[in-house]
Amino acid sequence: MKIHEADARGIFSRYGLPVPPSRMITKPEEARAAAEELGCPVVVKAQVLVGGRGKAGGVKLASTPEEAVEKAEAILGIDIKGLTVEKVLVAKAVDIEREFYVGMIFDRGTRMPMMMVSPAGGVDIEEVARATPEKILKMPVNPDGGLMPFQVRRMASFLSKDREVAKQIGKALKGLYEAFMGADASLAEINPLVESPDGVVWAIDAKINLDDNALFRHPDIAAMRDDSAEDRGEVDAREADLSFVKLEGKIGCIVNGAGLAMATMDMIEHFGGEPANFLDIGGSSSPEKVLSAMKIILRDENVRSILINIFGGITRCDDVANGLIGAKEKLGLDVPLIVRLTGTNEKEAREILANTEMIGADDMEDAVKKAIEAAG
Ligand code: GDP
Ligand code: MN
Repeated sequence: MKIHEADARGIFSRYGLPVPPSRMITKPEEARAAAEELGCPVVVKAQVLVGGRGKAGGVKLASTPEEAVEKAEAILGIDIKGLTVEKVLVAKAVDIEREFYVGMIFDRGTRMPMMMVSPAGGVDIEEVARATPEKILKMPVNPDGGLMPFQVRRMASFLSKDREVAKQIGKALKGLYEAFMGADASLAEINPLVESPDGVVWAIDAKINLDDNALFRHPDIAAMRDDSAEDRGEVDAREADLSFVKLEGKIGCIVNGAGLAMATMDMIEHFGGEPANFLDIGGSSSPEKVLSAMKIILRDENVRSILINIFGGITRCDDVANGLIGAKEKLGLDVPLIVRLTGTNEKEAREILANTEMIGADDMEDAVKKAIEAAG
């Protein structure tokens, strides 16, 4: 789960990170009181669950309360990467001398939490990793012992040679680690952590992604969920009890079982196609689930064909077939459907689908090839 910067700031400040004070608003006029209370200059920031808001015009400085109102007016309602800005954060602005990147993720390679820092902050860290990897220092952290003092010193001195500044950075790194572990985050990131001209360190951006499987331990964080700011497909999928991840390709996939879903995606890529999504309709599938899955996939304009790959066990193929017929009627499908159903009640399913335009497939490989061809 992703949360807004404002909420991530709240979590960070609980762990002692130096977060400038801020106020959340939803109407431009409210920026005036916020700016007066905080003291100018302030920075007005779009609260949407995507990065790169700065470049998209979603982050603006204001040196008077009037200007804060103007900036809030300019930001509220704009579209950033497909999301409408409905809330903005007014935060006390900081003068910037240097910008650093500090982040914490779970690293699958080392199978450990890993801290990453870079003196090239404020820009896209993936870009830094590509162009100048030597500017990133990575440190796996053993959760048994936690972040070690030598690690903190090494990372802090990698970012600043000034001892006073390095000391503050070190404290921020400890706070970041504690926040990451304490919130059961899958990612916690401050980009940028900045040093002001008078040598004070501030966390002026905040990003935390939570591990959904641990959210039950954090009802306060779970309550920060903002459905309106999430990808609609993912929200609908959660409500329909489907595992769904949107991807960039043209071939929609409806599969039962996460393993088969992954194998299907691998095979699509193997034969030169690109999946539009990962979608697991789960073990016990009903026609309603198939309909929900179809709706979610069809919302993606990139989709040119849909591959249905079902291995019937507890899932009955005839249920899926009926779901497909229903979806076709209700949704007026115009993309080709390639259907591979095998296992429980396969014969019944074939009969149900016999006189439709759906394209049958002998096996998985055949289905994948047909789906790629149909997608063009
Ligand atoms: P992002 O683009 O979504 O990552 O949003 P950020 O919060 O990182 O803001 C983008 C950029 O705006 C930062 O990299 C800074 O250059 C600038 N910015 C944000 N807050 C402040 C601030 O308090 N003072 C100054 N001078 N610049 C800021
Ligand atoms: Mn940022």
